[in-house]
Amino acid sequence: MYRSRQQNVQAAQWSPNGESLGAADLTVQSNIVFGENVFSPAVQRQRLPKSVFQALQASVEGGEVLDPSLADAVASAMREWAMERGATHFTHWFQPLTGSTAEKHDSFFAPVGDGSAMAEFSGKELIQGEPDASSFPTGGVRATFEARGYTAWDPTSPAFVLENPNGAVLCIPTAFASWTGEALDHKIPLLRSMDALSKAAVNALRTFGDDGATRVFTTVGPEQEYFLIDEQYYFERPDLINTGRTLFGAKPPKGHELDDHYFGSIPERVLACMLEAERELAKLGVPIKTRHNEVAPAQYEIAPIFENSNVGSDHQQLLMQILQGVARRYGLVCLLHEKPFAGVNGSGKHNNWSMSTDTGANLLEPGETPHENLKFLFFAGAVIQAVNTHQGLLRASVASAGQDHRLGANEAPPAIISIFLGAELKRVFDALADGREGESLDESFLGLGTPVLPPLPMHDGDRNRTSPFAFTGNKFEFRALGSSQSLSMPNTVLNTIVAQAIDDLGGSLKRELDAGRSIEDAVRSVVGASFEANKQVVFEGDNYSDEWHEEAARRGLLNERTTPDALPFLLSPETVGVFGDYAVLSERELESRYEVMVEQYVIRVNIEAETAANMARTMLLPAAVRNVETLRAAGVEALVDEALPLVDRFIDAIRALEAANAIHHGEEGSLEHALYMRDTVLPAMEQVREVADELEGIVADDLWPLPKYSEILFIK
Ligand code: ADP
Ligand code: MG
Repeated sequence: MYRSRQQNVQAAQWSPNGESLGAADLTVQSNIVFGENVFSPAVQRQRLPKSVFQALQASVEGGEVLDPSLADAVASAMREWAMERGATHFTHWFQPLTGSTAEKHDSFFAPVGDGSAMAEFSGKELIQGEPDASSFPTGGVRATFEARGYTAWDPTSPAFVLENPNGAVLCIPTAFASWTGEALDHKIPLLRSMDALSKAAVNALRTFGDDGATRVFTTVGPEQEYFLIDEQYYFERPDLINTGRTLFGAKPPKGHELDDHYFGSIPERVLACMLEAERELAKLGVPIKTRHNEVAPAQYEIAPIFENSNVGSDHQQLLMQILQGVARRYGLVCLLHEKPFAGVNGSGKHNNWSMSTDTGANLLEPGETPHENLKFLFFAGAVIQAVNTHQGLLRASVASAGQDHRLGANEAPPAIISIFLGAELKRVFDALADGREGESLDESFLGLGTPVLPPLPMHDGDRNRTSPFAFTGNKFEFRALGSSQSLSMPNTVLNTIVAQAIDDLGGSLKRELDAGRSIEDAVRSVVGASFEANKQVVFEGDNYSDEWHEEAARRGLLNERTTPDALPFLLSPETVGVFGDYAVLSERELESRYEVMVEQYVIRVNIEAETAANMARTMLLPAAVRNVETLRAAGVEALVDEALPLVDRFIDAIRALEAANAIHHGEEGSLEHALYMRDTVLPAMEQVREVADELEGIVADDLWPLPKYSEILFIK
């Protein structure tokens, strides 16, 4: 079937209207105004009465609540602007705990008494919506409370118009809470954590005598990996449709997988798709910086320029949505699963993270003056302390069924959380911990107490691609996120635990200063002592190696290999403590997240197991049997003898999986249930797959009902 499929693909139309992209489309592209579909501050300034605009800005910048009496004016300007852009409906756009986004569309038009309709959109509708919370997972919160939920306008993330060939919708980023005010979404805790970090960082800056900044924003710049495959193969594979990954498929011939793909030239259809996705994103004000091929065939990466964590997370959700939507216009399907193809590199998301003041200073940028460097070492030291203290929580924040196929698989960071600092920075921290003067390096010097300091060079050669948490020049990069994941949870965790560490170190710093020590001596001793206590988490070597696993165990670092191992850290005393102290998530809210994440794991694995059993019995087994019939009819007994035992093994394996699927251990969606899925169901699936992949190697190609890896991955 290989050839016929290939011909079909070539015949497929690959632009929305069946034409290839020509000069006309490029003109269209150059006509796009960045952010033209965003109700941005610039648009607001033009369209709102001055006083309303100023009040809105004040509420956005200062985190103050907008006077409801002004909301009507904002709503009406927003509606007019959106309708000029073709919008007929509006929606509160929010992020339930599933990790995706949700919308409920309402028309702008409301009937008036005489049988006609009038365009209307009140401040009340802008500020608050009331979707039925019972349709979204809410964990424990749902069990005891009324199902009613509220969405609340988030004025700090600008509204936008989402276009569709047949219309457009005004999307208003909103938070989603229960009627008792408990967060049912990912945005509320993220905003709370940004506030917590801001307070802690501004306080610390005051201790440094820096009075300029009134707010500190955390920033995020994600690098998103994804696969693009031809939709024809997608629709031929129930596993891809139902689970996002292939549950069967023998590895392609060896050597094939490298294929000069990484940074190779991008195939034309794929490039056309990427360009259009970027164009759509540009209209929505999502700034794209880079795009390139990734390691695996048919795998790509897209990276926006960093923004504040709230807007950056919203934009990341949009980016995933747009990538998936635009791909379909080109006869492609965008796979965001963490491991769509066994034996082939999976997809992750690198979460570049830093802190910036409202005066424009990046707190993780090594400075050009000794004073700036002191601050830098203080904030970097706080991150190190935070990561070491909350390894388990960070690990839990990236846990999912998809991730379990990737983390620790010699392509992605291990499940052990450690930090890479790079040689220069590590030497400086070591010197601090040992109470030595700053270290002099060949060409550069980053240290303390020297009058002249050149800018700190952070050599690119120093980068360690295997580390889950790496310092990369002026930011930390948390590399263990899964490709389908929302950024909110890991960033909520980072912001909160770093706020705690900043407060801790800042408190010590203040005490030292009050005792009359110089800021230099104080930083030196406080950061030095913290590093001494937390340096076990720093590892500069190869994170993929077996030696690291042994070494990490000796150091007492956590190594939570699977999701059911990691998730309980969401409820550990340390987690409950830090989230409670910083009012980011109450214990109840944490429990609800834990329950939802466990439940999602169970649901995912269950869908996979049912799909695998069904495909094996109704697609693959019949193919294997037909193959035996053919061989028998042709009188090739030698091959029949070869094939039959495999078919018998297959039947046994399928029955075992079906039996495993039929039993349930533990309460539905409990941790016990998750452990049963991990320890019994997944291995049973693996058994079925093993035989199936062997069968793929002997069954006649025209009888095999599934497109093979070699086709899916290499036909572009
Ligand atoms: P890599 O070498 O890791 O592939 P890239 O240059 O592709 O690096 O990506 C760097 C990412 O880091 C970009 O997404 C960029 O927006 C982000 N980034 C840069 N500076 C910051 C910052 N201060 N805060 C957060 N993210 C940042
Ligand atoms: Mg990166």
